[in-house]
Amino acid sequence: MGKSKLVEDVATASSYMDFQLEHMHLDLLVDVEARKLRGSEKLNLCVLRETGELRLDSHPTMHVLRAEGPPGHELPWEYKPFTRYGNVTVLRLPEPVSPGTQLVITIEYEANESPGVCWLEPQQTAGKKKPYMYTQGQAVLNRCFFPSFDTPVVKSTFSANITVPDGFTAIMSANNWDRQGQTFVFNMTQPIPSYLVALVVGDIVSADVGPRSRVWAEPCLIEAAKKEYDGVIEEFLTVGEKLFGPYVWGRYDVLFMPPSFPFGGMENPCITFVTPCLLAGDRSLADVIIHEISHSWFGNLVTNANWGEFWLNEGFTMYAQRRISTELYGYSYSCLEAATGRALLRQHMDTSGEDHPLNKLRVKIEPGVDPDDTYNETPYEKGFCFVSYLAHLVGDQGKFDAFLRAYIDSFKFQSITADEALDFYLDYFPDLKSREVDKITGLEFDRWLNTPGWPPFLPDLSPGNDLMKPAEELAVLWSANPLDMEAIARVDIAQWKTYQLIYYLDRILEKSPLPSGNIEELAKYYPKISEAANAELRLRWGQIILKNDYQLHFHKVHDFLQSQGKQKYTLPLYRAMNAGSEAACALGREIYNKTSEQLHFNVKNYVKKILDA
Ligand SMILES: [Zn+2]
Repeated sequence: MGKSKLVEDVATASSYMDFQLEHMHLDLLVDVEARKLRGSEKLNLCVLRETGELRLDSHPTMHVLRAEGPPGHELPWEYKPFTRYGNVTVLRLPEPVSPGTQLVITIEYEANESPGVCWLEPQQTAGKKKPYMYTQGQAVLNRCFFPSFDTPVVKSTFSANITVPDGFTAIMSANNWDRQGQTFVFNMTQPIPSYLVALVVGDIVSADVGPRSRVWAEPCLIEAAKKEYDGVIEEFLTVGEKLFGPYVWGRYDVLFMPPSFPFGGMENPCITFVTPCLLAGDRSLADVIIHEISHSWFGNLVTNANWGEFWLNEGFTMYAQRRISTELYGYSYSCLEAATGRALLRQHMDTSGEDHPLNKLRVKIEPGVDPDDTYNETPYEKGFCFVSYLAHLVGDQGKFDAFLRAYIDSFKFQSITADEALDFYLDYFPDLKSREVDKITGLEFDRWLNTPGWPPFLPDLSPGNDLMKPAEELAVLWSANPLDMEAIARVDIAQWKTYQLIYYLDRILEKSPLPSGNIEELAKYYPKISEAANAELRLRWGQIILKNDYQLHFHKVHDFLQSQGKQKYTLPLYRAMNAGSEAACALGREIYNKTSEQLHFNVKNYVKKILDA
């Protein structure tokens, strides 16, 4: 719509500039045995520019069987190569069409197993009885699922009829759904980009956890899921609405995925997909849910126009997440959580080098490069710093919150660039604009966007000191030689929040390797940490084990990587193994050989790259 249509996206080969996509309808049969989706896609299009063809993003694993344009007109089609993550299907129209023409195109096709359409064996699920299928669209994977204008700049409504075998349930990211026998009927009445269209088919049940929220999971996980999130999600939504304006998507449900799901959460509208790692038993990882809820405004309602502007989705969402956390748990807690985020950014920049071109907010994605390959902490945490800086310039939290509501209201259901967002900010605050705050030396908006490196402004996290200081001091005690066990015994960690433990472990990791023998003592002294079930603690403990070459606990790294396949846990541990001792390197290869088949296609490739480095 409007000018955003003109934004370029090197990650699509589709002719999205020639058409306005008004609606998409899918009619698919899910063949669990053959691992295939088969059926048709109907596109309602309005022609924007005269053209004789329709180009749609697709994938070599997808086969078009028949295409029909104007009634009775079969359309010839051919595939053309594009990149390693997809090809393009070119449909020839019977004659050139002029602007304003309404077209209905129907494409019969089948979609096979692929990076975007993931099939799991029964043993890869939690229940281990039935197979499972899910799609993952972000960033450029939904071209494996349906022929598409697979760019975030295009938004449309969609509907779908999904027929599944007996004993299976289908779920989609739609705000209306119904069931007719084995066919699930979905309708999404709000326009969304293609990457947010999501489908799951499996042995899935649900339980209410709030007036507009349910948890969905395999039957064996549903009790744990209900217990973990009963009553809390509504609280998160209410605070989000108070801060950012109406929640427009109707329901907010959470689906707990099988362990191999590569992300912490994926913000599919109406139903967030999350890793089962969030079932920590103590609600300690609910910040992931708060993050995904924040995407209901930042990302899903106002969307980055292309993947080079991904920080608009994630930086604003990190800021929104921490605003909600502050309202719920206080400023000192959200500062502590932000400090762990800053530590992740530090780790990332140390590994990649601060000057790496990916460490700018606006990333130049070269043609042919898979946007997923540019994924890192920078859009999240440097993006958070930039949004915090924008708030700092305003100087009044209430005024900045009001700006965020206006930003959402102004750009809802659109896809925008950073330039549009920042122009809106300066127009909203005319006194800041007249003071030219976008040109302050060293803090130029242009520098934030286009220069790699550590954030030129860091929000003050010192309000978190009452939680961080004790953790820092304890880390100092544990890195001493010899250990002062009396001083250590005086620090009681029993009441510490999970994020304090995480913060403490990050400090231990920084100081590692510890003097000889300390890590053995630490492992024995805090079973709460070394035997933790919480995934964030297991990740840190694994990193500490590897950096200290504490081979007695190597099996813990193995067990953790076997139990789940989240990318943000998997890659750091493989990096640590590869950078570790000979035994650690051998451990990496051993775990990979045993577990690679359960990893998501992309994660598996990233691990392979680490091991081959
Ligand atoms: Zn996110």
